Amino acid sequence: MPTATARKPAAASRSRRSSSGIGAPRIRHRARVPELVYGIDSKSIAPRGLVGSNPTPGIRLTVHHDANVRSLEEVDWVKELVETGLNDCAIARLTGLPRTTVRDWRQTQRWVPRQRTGGRSNLFGRRARSCMRCGHPLHRFSELDEQYVYLLGLYLGDGYLAQHRREVYRLTISLDARYPGIVAECREAIQTVLPTGRVGVHFRYGGTCAWVTNSSKQWPCLFPQHGAGKKHERRIELSDWQRPLVEQHPQALLRGLIHSDGWRGINRVRHGDTTYEYPRYTFTNRSDDIKRIFCDACDLLGIEWRVMNRWNISVARREAVARLDEFVGPKA
Ligand SMILES: [Zn+2]
Repeated sequence: MPTATARKPAAASRSRRSSSGIGAPRIRHRARVPELVYGIDSKSIAPRGLVGSNPTPGIRLTVHHDANVRSLEEVDWVKELVETGLNDCAIARLTGLPRTTVRDWRQTQRWVPRQRTGGRSNLFGRRARSCMRCGHPLHRFSELDEQYVYLLGLYLGDGYLAQHRREVYRLTISLDARYPGIVAECREAIQTVLPTGRVGVHFRYGGTCAWVTNSSKQWPCLFPQHGAGKKHERRIELSDWQRPLVEQHPQALLRGLIHSDGWRGINRVRHGDTTYEYPRYTFTNRSDDIKRIFCDACDLLGIEWRVMNRWNISVARREAVARLDEFVGPKA
């Protein structure tokens, strides 16, 4: 019996080693971020050359690095290491996390629960300082200006978000390259909404299409309409905080919507031998919800519209066109 008892830990240690997944195909950063199991005899199972010192005594956890989302165990681990007084570099070496992640977590106190506090004290008496979704300091949506509302119009018309590594999303607004003024205005709006990021302009399809792009973790928070699938196949509605902004700046929304999915041109109507020409706006979108948002904004400004067909809304009455011309005008 003593022999069996003595063998048990060794067997457990072996099984831990084999289940730790070192060298498993799903590990993203095999060289820098191995899967580690700290427990009994942690020194012997830590990959050689990857851990600078003994882990803090008492830590027993498994860390999985096969997903972009960080686990609660990792957050707790970093919290414990921060409390021991280690600096960001040392913690990054020990945990295999990027130093910038450790720095962000330290600065935002990632381990402080942030559920539905709305900036008020939570159960632990600590103040929530970051967004639950993106980890940035709490958004001040009410302070967004008409540049954001214009960008919202462009996004609803011809924009989309694509998720990249580390919960970063890339916003792409796809515009007609024939209108450099609109491309420049889109770029300026993105720069105003998120001043720290770089805004790229990429020409596609033989130079006919301009993609204006910017990457940030904040985009899904700024555009809560983001979701899986095409916009016209899911529900699109303004959030509670977007509605007052749109009511404040309906012109900016209409300008964005028309710059992306709208058109101003000359309509010709024939009566007998006479042909009448008059300017007209049309807005084309496959989503009934987005068409509704367009029509609601027109209603706010007293602009008359009518349903042309399944996908098109028309603004054709002389005074309605004149009103739109005040803040939209022909594309340029
Ligand atoms: Zn956020």
